Amino acid sequence: MLTEILSREECAKCRICCCFDSYDIWEAPVVSKELADVIVKEHKPDLEFVPKGDSFVMKMDREENEDLYYCSVLDHSKGCLLGTGKPFDCSIWPLRVMRFEGKRVIALSPVCPVVIKKPVSEVVALAKKLQDKIFSEADKNPDLVKNYEVGYVILVVED
Ligand code: SF4
Ligand code: SF4
Repeated sequence: MLTEILSREECAKCRICCCFDSYDIWEAPVVSKELADVIVKEHKPDLEFVPKGDSFVMKMDREENEDLYYCSVLDHSKGCLLGTGKPFDCSIWPLRVMRFEGKRVIALSPVCPVVIKKPVSEVVALAKKLQDKIFSEADKNPDLVKNYEVGYVILVVED
């Protein structure tokens, strides 16, 4: 969804957002029941899920001797096994829908090394363009809305 400011090639070289540590594992993508069923049926029959509200997150194994958790559907050579069927969280990354002082906002994660270097006006313009879609998806699935974290750049505040 962010192809205007982020290329496939840049992501293929990076893949930071498909791995987590114990400080940002809360960023693990929210998966609906329907998507969880598809993942089990088509990709990972043994994968376990952890409930999150009415949704789920995929169980991830900690790397040996490292505080790192790779997403369970990341193939280290091919990328995300889900292709175009990624969780909504991943399709808008590094944008996040968050709760800040009682309002929903669209914020930019400081973790993405590519988008954080773009002119902020360009990223705000894209967030504004996507806001109806993002907030409407959050209406359908409130589990997508994360609590605000310091360092995330607020781009759009819902009216
Ligand atoms: S962190 Fe940014 S550049 Fe890296 S893979 Fe994710 S979206 Fe792409
Ligand atoms: S679902 Fe795919 S895009 Fe999302 S974190 Fe996992 S491997 Fe990355």
